Amino acid sequence: MKLQILERAIEEGNHIVCLLGYGVSADCGCFDYRDSNNAYEVETRYGYSPEEIFAASFFNTRPATFFDYYRETILKHQGTPGNALKTLKKMEDMGKLSCVVTRSIYALPERAGIMHHVDTHGTIYRNHCPHCGAEYPIEFMMEQKGVPHCTKCGSVVRPDVVLDGEMIPNTYVTESANAVERADVLLILGCSMKATLTQNCINYFDGKRIILINEEENYSDSSADLVFHGKPNEILPKIYR
Ligand SMILES: [Zn+2]
Repeated sequence: MKLQILERAIEEGNHIVCLLGYGVSADCGCFDYRDSNNAYEVETRYGYSPEEIFAASFFNTRPATFFDYYRETILKHQGTPGNALKTLKKMEDMGKLSCVVTRSIYALPERAGIMHHVDTHGTIYRNHCPHCGAEYPIEFMMEQKGVPHCTKCGSVVRPDVVLDGEMIPNTYVTESANAVERADVLLILGCSMKATLTQNCINYFDGKRIILINEEENYSDSSADLVFHGKPNEILPKIYR
């Protein structure tokens, strides 16, 4: 019964915007730094937490450790777009979905073939030299040993991702706000109403309905109009076939 209600709510939306949370990327096999086993392994190996390493100050002062961590954890666990992403792609093809907004750096929407997406924290698939602007593919970052240096000017090449302590580029803020403003349904997958992604976007929403599909229950769930507890990779394909 609940699924039918969700199905109808999705059916009514013509400008659905999806907020894609960490729960989905973790379920797709992307490195989940919030997982306690992962965090413990990183702390044991490097003496720092994943959050401490993935920060601008750490990148600037200890680039060798940063890139070892980056290569061994993030680049080795890029994941694969799962069924939720495939369903979102179908929804976009049918003209139902306007945009996917995510903080995930694994470019899951793009890799699923979705045209309209805002990766507010950038992606690991784009890298550049801050000095001369030369661009590098992910393969370059994977193949380099130690700190990757620009082949043109010798500066340190960095991934186009937002590290802790850095600002989200203004264009991404504007693009995601514009998309959410135009949405009639906000579909929140794999994060709570209190997640940073949701909090950053929710104030712009003036549409009909907020649908939340998340595995973990949260006290804030009641502020969504429809809530379903489960994995988006399993639920979404059932309600939009
Ligand atoms: Zn350069």
